[in-house]
Formats: sequence, structure tokens, C-alpha cells
Amino acid sequence: MRISKITAYRVDLPLCEKSYKWSGGKSVEVFDSTLVAVETDTGLVGYGEVCPLGPFYLPAYAEGVRAGLRELGPHLIGEHACQLNKLNRRMDSALKGHPYVKSAVDMACWDILGKATSLPVCDLLGGRYGDDFLLYRAISQDTPERMVAMVKSYRAEGYRRFQLKVGGDPDEDIERIRSVAAILCPGDRLVADANTGWVQHEAVRVARAVKDIDVYMEQPCLTYDECLAVRRQCSLPFILDESIDDLSVLLRARSDMVMDVVNLKISKLGGLTKIRQARDLCISMGFAMTLEDSWGGDITTAAIAHLAHSTPPEFLFSSTDFNSYVTVSHCEGAPQRLNGRMSASTRPGLGIEPKMDVLGKPVLEIS
Ligand code: MG
Repeated sequence: MRISKITAYRVDLPLCEKSYKWSGGKSVEVFDSTLVAVETDTGLVGYGEVCPLGPFYLPAYAEGVRAGLRELGPHLIGEHACQLNKLNRRMDSALKGHPYVKSAVDMACWDILGKATSLPVCDLLGGRYGDDFLLYRAISQDTPERMVAMVKSYRAEGYRRFQLKVGGDPDEDIERIRSVAAILCPGDRLVADANTGWVQHEAVRVARAVKDIDVYMEQPCLTYDECLAVRRQCSLPFILDESIDDLSVLLRARSDMVMDVVNLKISKLGGLTKIRQARDLCISMGFAMTLEDSWGGDITTAAIAHLAHSTPPEFLFSSTDFNSYVTVSHCEGAPQRLNGRMSASTRPGLGIEPKMDVLGKPVLEIS
């Protein structure tokens, strides 16, 4: 089961809401996603996807995926596709860093492993818990009134967890949090995600101004140390995201008691192999998780579903259905949201089949 060819495709993913806005005036209208097909000498093919949240969110950008694959790909031809730890060590020795580049290759090899063993990736990641799992909806940054309207409309579609994009003007952010909290129902959960957008004193001010509200504070500031300083002055439950990108910082986070929940993204960690290791460590350390990716379409959503569905529900704070945010579907068989919940496919591998007419001509072929 050796890798014989790696092919990459570029698929544009326009947003249903036309744009997605978050802290610091950052916004995206069309996501540039890279789909990767890994072929083996047995004829089995696996698929992966990586889609950075623009070039200004994490240290990742769409053209960087393709440039990285051009560099990394030739080192992987002839490697065993199903020996995933060994394959990851090979990727790490051939290309230092750049975890997001490796993520789609690793994801595709999990798809191959599932097809080779006739098991869904969910089973291979540890086993399926229950019938489905919980999703959150990200609410793009806007005026408090428009954010209230979006929460109402997504609540009517079945979502019960809402992640408000704040991290703008602190006074307006306080208004955003207060306005949305006022319309929530028992059982709903609210997260104020600043996406690193506040400086320390602003974050402390916002946290104090909403301390009577049942809201989680997510990644208020740019650095881990600033977030730690805010955490120590804040009584609200605390989530870290952008600052947590490997196992060593997870261990530090436990030791500092800097957070209650962590947001883990597949490509931020470098693929399903590495996020599984982080997920299992978080369970051992008692951290609940939001399990997702930076962005993506049907393949990313399928991979998230297998990861989330194989996580004990008490440790799964929420997850994401990115394929419902975008207008383009590039696979058959991708999971679909139902009443704010989703489930992983029971078919072998990721359970998806690309629509080759949507993928179009390859942008990269390595053999
Ligand atoms: Mg976040």
C-alpha cells in the first residue's frame, strides 16, 4: 500500500452569507481550498482537504499549501500510506514546520486506511459515541442588532451553541455580547471569540463588563502570556485557540490552568494523526474541546465529523459543519447538519466521493 501519486486541486468556496468577518477588520468572501488525492500502488485513493482562513489568521495561506506540497510530495512517493505515525515522521523530517501542508496528506491517508480495512475513520480514531454530536454556529462580526438577528435565524435552524466574532471595539463588543445573551434560551451556550483582537487591558475590561453573563471568553489576546494574564483576572470560563498548536503548549496550559476548554483544529495541529494525539491528551487532562479546522468544504467537514463523533460527548464542547457555510459542494456523501447536530459517515474511510467535475483540472501532480 505505497504512495504512487499525489494530486492537488484548487476549489473556490464562496460563502452563503457573502462574507465572513472577524477581529481586526479581517474578512474573507471566497475561500481558496486545496483538495489532495493520494493514490497507492494497489489502486486505492484517499482524499484530504486544507483551507486556511485567509492568509492572516494562522501562519498558513492557500498558495503555501500548494508550494509546500510541491516541496514535500516527492519525499512521500514510495512511503506506506497506512503506516501513519511513520508517514508523519517522514513528513516532519522532509519539511520542517508547516503543519497545515501535511494535514491534507495525512487526512487522505486516513481515508485510505479506512478503505483498506473497510472501517469508517471514526472507528479507527477510537470508536463512535452515540448517534450524533453537537455543532456550533460562528456569527460573523457585525452590528449588535444584525448579530442578534443571525443568532435568531440560526437558532431556528436548530443550533444551540453560538460563537460571536468579537475582538473589535471593546464597547461595541460588550454590546454585542449583552444583546445576544438577552435573547438566548435555557440550554444555549454563548462564546465570545475575540480571535486575538484585544490588547490585554481591553480584554480585562470586556471580561469585567460581562461578568454577570453566562458566556465563555475565547482567545482574547495575541500571545499565550497575555491570555494568561487576562485569565487570572477573569471569572468567566476560558477557551484558548490560536495559541494552542502543539502538545508542549497543551501541557503548559494544564500546568498554568490557563483554560477550561480548548479549540483544536486539524490543520493547525498537522492532520488527523496529530490532532488525535492532542485530543486524547486533552481527555486525559480533563479539557473539553471544540474540534474543527480553520475552514474547508465537504472533505474537511467529513474529517471533522469522524474526529468529533469518536470523542466522548462530555469532552466535546462543540464542532463545526463548514460545508453548510459555503455554496459549493465538491463531494458526494459528505455529512449534513440536522437540528444543530451532525454524524460521521458509516461508510469505509471518510465516506466521501469527490465530484471530479467540480474539482476540475489538477494544479499539481507528483509521481
Ligand atoms: Mg476560535
